[in-house]
Amino acid sequence: MKKLLFISIFVLLSANLTFAQLPQKNYALTNVNLFNGVDNKISSNSIIYVKSGKIERIGKQGETITKDYEIVDCQGNYAIPGMIDVHTHIDNLQSAKRALLSGVTTIRTAGVSAYQDVALRDLSKSGYIMGPDVVPAGVFVSPNLDETVLADPRLGKLITGVNTDDELKLIVNVNIDRGAEFIKTRGTERAGLPETDPRQQSYTQHQLKVIVDEAAKRNVPVMVHAHGDEGARAAVLAGARSIEHGSFLSDETLQLMKQKGVFLVPTYITLEDLTKPGGDYSGAVLELRGKFMMPVAERVFKKAHSLGVKIATGADNDYSSNSTSRVSLEAEHFSKMGMTNFEAIQATTIVSAELAGLSAKTGKIIPGYDADIIILPGNPLEDIRVLQDALIIMSNGYLALKRLPFGKE
Ligand SMILES: [Zn+2]
Repeated sequence: MKKLLFISIFVLLSANLTFAQLPQKNYALTNVNLFNGVDNKISSNSIIYVKSGKIERIGKQGETITKDYEIVDCQGNYAIPGMIDVHTHIDNLQSAKRALLSGVTTIRTAGVSAYQDVALRDLSKSGYIMGPDVVPAGVFVSPNLDETVLADPRLGKLITGVNTDDELKLIVNVNIDRGAEFIKTRGTERAGLPETDPRQQSYTQHQLKVIVDEAAKRNVPVMVHAHGDEGARAAVLAGARSIEHGSFLSDETLQLMKQKGVFLVPTYITLEDLTKPGGDYSGAVLELRGKFMMPVAERVFKKAHSLGVKIATGADNDYSSNSTSRVSLEAEHFSKMGMTNFEAIQATTIVSAELAGLSAKTGKIIPGYDADIIILPGNPLEDIRVLQDALIIMSNGYLALKRLPFGKE
């Protein structure tokens, strides 16, 4: 009986996770209505050829397809580049898979407990797991590391705090040594804890500049968690590449962001999560806080959009089985708050790719780019909600999900 139990658990696990190195096939995605991520139009009757994990070329329906390609009939559904989540806390295999199956083919992490994001990046890159591509940020550079001092023996001495120049430089370098490609740090307190005020500044402009300058020596950019305006402005002046959340940004700070090309990652969907039962956040204080913050953040979003600040999509969750935040929903919010659908789709593809430093690799369906493609059940330029229901998901040329055809073949 015990043995049987063991076997059934094993079967269950292997059904959910792939442990062998995956074989790479060539595909021809036929009968596609194509949105390539760049042009504000749909090219009907397209074929997307995928070879060795890359987009080889775009063809036209009717041409002969050689035997080298496995044909995937997309039945007139709509292809767009895979979505990108530039603010997530994914730290395990199941969550990575959940993100992928929501149509997210690339993630940038924003702080995990022990470099699981670096390991996920390597597993996904080498084809041992079908996962999203990962741009890891390692451990959150924060005044109090708490449990994350355990992530690396060199961090142990920071258990009393991370405040001096030397302490800040140490954690930045440990992160980069361990494989971080971004540094995540703190400009203000959190919104998701009842006892903290998200407007309260934490690191000073000097401290943030020490972090940015130390990371820059190794060509690593910095993202800064900041709800309140003072902390966010300090981050922008210190040279941050993106402001995460930005809920209370003043017009002056937004103008400065536009001038300096600093990205805004609103994670608006998380504020909505505060106001609803379930999801990642619950409780009376957070519910009321979310209700107060949503219209404030909406005003900031609209101002940022009108000024031409670059806006990217982050769902700010760990894709646990309880999480209800998704970048597809974030894009829908962007559209409701004044972006065209074209702009909202670009926010979650081309703009997020630029923020993550992947402009030359993903976010477009054009030859030479990674085969990160999702097939949607309608025209996303007309109905942004179709982002929530990907029918086919391809990441680096691996077919992660194929729900078509619905009928019997
Ligand atoms: Zn976060």
